[in-house]
Amino acid sequence: MEFNFPQNLQYCQRIVEDVSGLLYYSHIPSALAAFFIGIFVLFKSKFSLLSKILFSISLVFSFWVVANLLIWIFYYKNSLVMAIWAPIEVFSVLLYILCLYFTYVFIEKKDLSIWLKYISTVPLFVTILATPTNYNLTAFDIQECISVENSLYTSYIVYVKLFYSLWIILFSVYKYFTVDKFFRKQILIMTTGIIIFLLSFLFAGYLAEETSVFIYEAIGLFGMVVFIGVLGYLIVKFKTFNIKLIASQALVVSLLVLISAQFFFIRNNTNRILTGITLILAFVFGSYLVKSVKREIEQRENIEQLAVELKDANDQLKELDRQKDELLGIVAHQLAKPITAIRWDLESLLDGDLGQMNEKQKTEANIMRGQAVNLADLVSMILDVSRIQLGRIQLAPQPLNLNEFFAEILQVIQPQIIQKKLNFIKKMPKTLPTVLLDKRYTRMTVENMLTNAVKYTPDGGKVTFDLKIENGVLRCSVSDTGCGIPKEEQGKIFGKMYRASNVRNTVEGNGFGLYVAKGAIEGQGGKMWFTSEEGKGTTFFIELPLKEVGKK
Ligand code: ADP
Repeated sequence: MEFNFPQNLQYCQRIVEDVSGLLYYSHIPSALAAFFIGIFVLFKSKFSLLSKILFSISLVFSFWVVANLLIWIFYYKNSLVMAIWAPIEVFSVLLYILCLYFTYVFIEKKDLSIWLKYISTVPLFVTILATPTNYNLTAFDIQECISVENSLYTSYIVYVKLFYSLWIILFSVYKYFTVDKFFRKQILIMTTGIIIFLLSFLFAGYLAEETSVFIYEAIGLFGMVVFIGVLGYLIVKFKTFNIKLIASQALVVSLLVLISAQFFFIRNNTNRILTGITLILAFVFGSYLVKSVKREIEQRENIEQLAVELKDANDQLKELDRQKDELLGIVAHQLAKPITAIRWDLESLLDGDLGQMNEKQKTEANIMRGQAVNLADLVSMILDVSRIQLGRIQLAPQPLNLNEFFAEILQVIQPQIIQKKLNFIKKMPKTLPTVLLDKRYTRMTVENMLTNAVKYTPDGGKVTFDLKIENGVLRCSVSDTGCGIPKEEQGKIFGKMYRASNVRNTVEGNGFGLYVAKGAIEGQGGKMWFTSEEGKGTTFFIELPLKEVGKK
C-alpha cells in the first residue's frame, strides 16, 4: 500500500472540528445504546439463537461506529487511520449477512442449513481477501480529507450490500404470503425495519461521501438504534407482539438517547441543568406513556383470553348438551316399548279379553289407559327432541289426502273446544289436494298449534283456524285471544323446554311441542313463526311447500 500523508492538516482539521460536536453526539450514544440493547435482549430471552444473532448485529454495529469515530478523531495519525479504515467494510458486509441470518431465523424459527451459511458468506470472504490489497484503500488524502479508494472495490461493496438487501426482501415477501395473518404483521414490521436500516446505512454513508455533508452518516446511526430496539422487542415479546407498544417504546428510547447525547457537547452549566430537566421530564412522561399503552394492551389481551376461554366453555357445554340428548334418546327409546305394552294390555283388559270387570274396575282401568297414552306421547316427544337436536330427524313423506287429514285433526280437538266454550272459526277451502308430506310430524305440528291455542285461551275466547294453498304452498295459521307471550321472552319460545313466565305455574305443559314442531316444519323445507301480544292473543303460522302426488 502507498501512503500519502502530506503535512498540511488544516483542511481536514477544519472539517473534523466542524462535525466534532455531532460526531460524539451521534457515535457514542448509538454505539452504547445498540450494545446495551443487544446485551439486554440476550439475557432477557435467555440466549436464544435470535437474541445471539441480534447481539452480534449490535456488537458489529458498535464496533463499526467506534472504528468510524476513531478515524475521525485520529485523522492525523496516518498509520492508525489506514489500519482502521482498510478493514471497516468487512464489518459493514458482516452486518448485512447477520441481518439476512436474523431474517431467516425469525421467519423460519430454525437455524440456517450449513450450506446456506457457506453460500451467504462468500461475498464476505472476498471482502476480507481484498482488504490488505491495493484493491481496497490505497491512501488517505489528508489534503482533501478523503480516502483514496479503488472504485472497483467500492462498487463491489455497494453491490454486495444491495444483493443482501434484495435477498432479505425477496425471502420475506415470499414467506409473507405463506404464513397466517398474525405472523404476517410481524414479518412486515421486522423486514421493513431491517431494510430501512440497511438501506439508510448504505445510502447515508454514500450520500455523506458524495456530498461531503457528513451529517447524513451520523443521522443514519440513530435509525440503527431504534431498529435494533424494535428487533429486540420482537424477540423478547414474541408472543405478545404489539406495534403500538413497540412504537411508543422506540419513541421514548430514541428521545432519551437523543437528549442524553447532548451532554457530550454542551459546555454551559445552565444548558446542562435545562437538558437534565428535559431528560427527567421525558423519562417521566415517556414511562407513563409506555405504561398506559402496556396496560391497555394487557386489558385487551385479557379480554381476548377470556373470549378464548368462553369459547372453550361453550364448546364443552355444547358437547355435554349433545351427550345429554343422546342419553335422552336412549332412555326414551327404552321406555317406549314397555309403555306401549302396558297400553295394549289395558286395551285388552277393557275389551274384556281377560274376563269381565265391574264398573269401578273399568273406571280405574280407563284412567290408567289415559295416563299410559299421555306417557307414550311424552316419550315419543322426547325421542323427537333428541332426534332433532342431533340432526337425525327421519321424515317419511307419504300421500296425504288433506281433506281427511285436517278433518281428523279438527275432530280430535273438538271436545276441548266445547269444554272451554270457545268460539271456533274455521276458514279453509272445501276441497284440498292429496300431497306428499310426513303425516306424523305434520299432524303433530298442526295439533300442537291448535291445542296450545285452546290451552292458553280462557273460557269463552276465540280461536281461528285459517288454511290456504297458494302457488303450491300450504299456509296455515291459528290465532287466539288468549294470554299471549311476553315480548321479552318471544325470542326463546321455540327453544327446547322453554315455557313463558305467564303460563309456567298456571297451565300444565312440558315445552317440547313447539321445538319439535319447528324442527319438523323446517325439516320439510317450510317455515314456522308467530306474532303475539301479551294479554291480547297469539297467532302461529306455518308455510309448507307442497308436492302434489303424481306431479314431479
Ligand atoms: P307447552 O305448551 O307444553 O308448554 P310448547 O312447546 O307447545 O310447550 O309451547 C312452549 C311455550 O310457548 C308455552 O309454554 C307457552 O309459554 C308458549 N305458547 C305456545 N303457544 C301459545 C299460545 N297460543 N298462546 C300463548 N303462549 C303460547
